[in-house]
Amino acid sequence: MSTPRRRAIVAMLVERDGSACQLCGVNPAVEPSIDHRYPVSKYPDREWEADNWRIACQRCNSSRGNRIQPGDPESLGELSRRWTMA
Ligand SMILES: [Zn+2]
Repeated sequence: MSTPRRRAIVAMLVERDGSACQLCGVNPAVEPSIDHRYPVSKYPDREWEADNWRIACQRCNSSRGNRIQPGDPESLGELSRRWTMA
């Protein structure tokens, strides 16, 4: 992701969600990173969905990796519900 584009996305997310990390609630000391609720490695088609983005500090984003966290849509069975209802 190019830096100007990344900056624009971060600015949009700060406007929407506030500047605190959405995982630990701490304001990032350095420029926040963009976390994907659905990891791009598993869901490449969701990379550019605004609903899939959230602010995360570098520490959370790097430690989280590609794991799905409790409270994430996937862990709540949203995907399986969607599939069974389709
Ligand atoms: Zn954090």
